[in-house]
Amino acid sequence: MLMTSAEGAALLHNPSRNKGTAFTVQEREEHHLRGLLPPRVFTLEEQVARVITNVRTKATPIEKYLYLMGLYERNQVLFYRVLIDNMAELMPIVYTPTVGQACQEYSKNFVNAHGMYISIEDAGQIERILGNWPEQDIRVIVVTDGERILGLGDLGANGMGIPVGKLALYSACAGIHPEHCLPVTLDVGTNNSEFVNDPLYIGLRQPRLRGEQLDALVEEFVTAVQHRFPHAIIQFEDFGNRNAFRLLEHYRHICRCFNDDIQGTAAVTLAGIYSSLRITGKSLKDQTLVFLGAGEAGIGIADLFVSALKAEGVSEGEARRKCWFVDSKGLVCNERTDLQDHKRPYAHLHRFVPTLLEVVELVKPTALIGVSGMPQTFTQAIVEAMGEFNDRPVIFSLSNPTSKSECTAEQAYRWTDGRAIFASGSPFDPVKYNGKTLVPGQGNNSYIFPGVGLGVMACGAKRVTDEMFAAAAKTLAETTSQADLDTGCIFPPLGRIREVSAHIAYAVAEIAYKRDLCEFPRPKDLMAHIHEIMFDPQYE
Ligand code: NAD
Repeated sequence: MLMTSAEGAALLHNPSRNKGTAFTVQEREEHHLRGLLPPRVFTLEEQVARVITNVRTKATPIEKYLYLMGLYERNQVLFYRVLIDNMAELMPIVYTPTVGQACQEYSKNFVNAHGMYISIEDAGQIERILGNWPEQDIRVIVVTDGERILGLGDLGANGMGIPVGKLALYSACAGIHPEHCLPVTLDVGTNNSEFVNDPLYIGLRQPRLRGEQLDALVEEFVTAVQHRFPHAIIQFEDFGNRNAFRLLEHYRHICRCFNDDIQGTAAVTLAGIYSSLRITGKSLKDQTLVFLGAGEAGIGIADLFVSALKAEGVSEGEARRKCWFVDSKGLVCNERTDLQDHKRPYAHLHRFVPTLLEVVELVKPTALIGVSGMPQTFTQAIVEAMGEFNDRPVIFSLSNPTSKSECTAEQAYRWTDGRAIFASGSPFDPVKYNGKTLVPGQGNNSYIFPGVGLGVMACGAKRVTDEMFAAAAKTLAETTSQADLDTGCIFPPLGRIREVSAHIAYAVAEIAYKRDLCEFPRPKDLMAHIHEIMFDPQYE
């Protein structure tokens, strides 16, 4: 039998077909693999056991990350099986917080590009270059320009770890087949002087492109995607906020796209608020929110909160007045002349108040939401004040990675006598307080974006709307069990995330059908269809 170019050693180097030691005796014979593998045939379960044992022996999270990315390059089925079967343990490795360090060190550790780099030098040829990607049926693209990676700032081309990590979560959490996923980094330069001076830096060593030139590159990219991958949803990721709002506002009306930092964060946080209402017995209309940080995350959350209140009959003005923002200067109010456009709708008719503590004392909010990227800014006095006004104060310290969190879970519980309903952006371990185990929730966007993507893919929704994100938030809150709420945890365990994503996908597709936004006719059984298209990593 003649050997084809896809057999023998080439097959072992093809991650989408490689089974490693799980190739059967017959497959080894047929594909010219005899002698290229040790003789014993292993099952997928045995391979998973070997991988997870190895992961656990690595001394540091970054070593675990690099080991797992090595597996990602060798054997896709095994990589996703390990990830799905050990979601709670491995998500902090594949995503925040470890992915933050992975991005900081990306150039040093670079081995292979896991996605596409489109740079300024590719202008005019992007559509042709997209054709170089080996897969053609792309359904989800996560694209970053690396300007605001987590709370870590401008990491330039090193930001590639984020689209790669997010798409790994699309496949693991919502079963979008890896062959439908494309991570993209737009290398438009960087203003990170450390990287510019680093001889190993993989990106362009020039100042970041701004203004019309940047917009033209993004426009060419989006247009090229429409031609090359017409069914793809584009997720804008970790753009700096001066571009993120503008690009979203422009493209959301033109193509199927969303910005996870704005809309995904908004939905997971709104879900957290809905869940907290199940604990406090209050209604959404009773909520007053104080935000520390008025960027993509904060404004996105407030916008979705406002649209959820409007759906309950509250006027837009009244809903907006329930949101108070404190940014690096102080209260966002009408006296200020330095406010960026996205902050203006939330400027209160109020005298300027300089500190968060004073704003909290003034407003007496039900919830305090940290999206500032500034660690330890929820001080003891502030958290204690929240505990004075509320039986169950809602404290969300969402800044990532862990080192940036506004306060820790342990601090939030200790300073409120264990009464805080706490969630964070990066995970915190459960806390023992007065003999009770309190479980902090992780306001992880992975609860939302994979399910939204799956829903859009299932029905071919032509647009991604705020109504879909609000539905995703409601669905997520409803899938949190009473047992979880009893421990203070306002999100379901990550082990149930595929089931949660399927429900979110259903809710999103329902809205798309209701609003007549779908490319595909409604299947007889929408939920069965969603389950059918979900990738379940098994060897064929
Ligand atoms: P951004 O850059 O758009 O906004 C940051 C905001 O914080 C700006 O308004 C800035 O003025 C303000 N700020 C900076 N220093 C401050 C200070 N000392 N006091 C008060 N405000 C200050 O960033 P973003 O996208 O809004 O993200 C902010 C943080 O939220 C990041 O750490 C990010 O990791 C985190 N985040 C978490 C989640 C999640 O948990 N699911 C999702 C998205 C973002």
